[in-house]
Amino acid sequence: MDFASERARLIEHLSREIKDTRVLEAMARIPREQFVPPENRHLAYEDIPLPIGLEQTISQPFIIALMTEALELTGTEKVLEIGTGSGYQAAILAELAQQVVTVERLPKLAETAGKVLENLGYSNIEIHLSEKTLGWPEAAPYEAILVTAGAPKVPAELISQLAIGGRMVIPVGSRYLQELVKITRQRKKNRIENLGGCRFVSLIGKGAWENE
Ligand code: SAH
Repeated sequence: MDFASERARLIEHLSREIKDTRVLEAMARIPREQFVPPENRHLAYEDIPLPIGLEQTISQPFIIALMTEALELTGTEKVLEIGTGSGYQAAILAELAQQVVTVERLPKLAETAGKVLENLGYSNIEIHLSEKTLGWPEAAPYEAILVTAGAPKVPAELISQLAIGGRMVIPVGSRYLQELVKITRQRKKNRIENLGGCRFVSLIGKGAWENE
């Protein structure tokens, strides 16, 4: 299978809606097939989410691009990702920011993602296993936070890890259907925008869904 031309076709498709060329260029450099289990590799460049084991998914490329664009990264930021999953989104963030801290609750996924990212040569991504608290307060504040699992509400635990002026993108809604919400933290009232509907696996933990 000719992954390079499949990838170019996907980027061309995304470029109809996504205008940030840095995001498109980053996605054009990253081999998504390496983040997808072997049995689904032939689907790596379809614009759909794919299973990555343990009932989790690598998100749909369009949603990934939309969320990443909304973070308005310039290259200098420290970014937090919640939900490492396959590691694909972390790779995109690593191309666009200075440093990426990504947390995952399932050790098996964190381990596989770590190997793929290491093989690809990324040296600005830290992966941590998160247990009880949401996010990674140890390295806060972050200029951008990307939550790649759905929450019932915007967790206060994550707002407090966001720098003033920082952007957070998070799917908020029910277990099965959410809206993508962008929050810009401000000294007084935070700015809130709605980016459209989406469907993510659940964010598990105190301040989100309490069980699987
Ligand atoms: N960003 C990933 C897709 C993530 S799927 C990618 O690019 O492939 C959502 C992930 O969030 C799952 O792997 C799930 O285990 C993880 N997750 C759910 N709740 C979490 C929490 N509280 N902290 C860290 N990871 C969490």
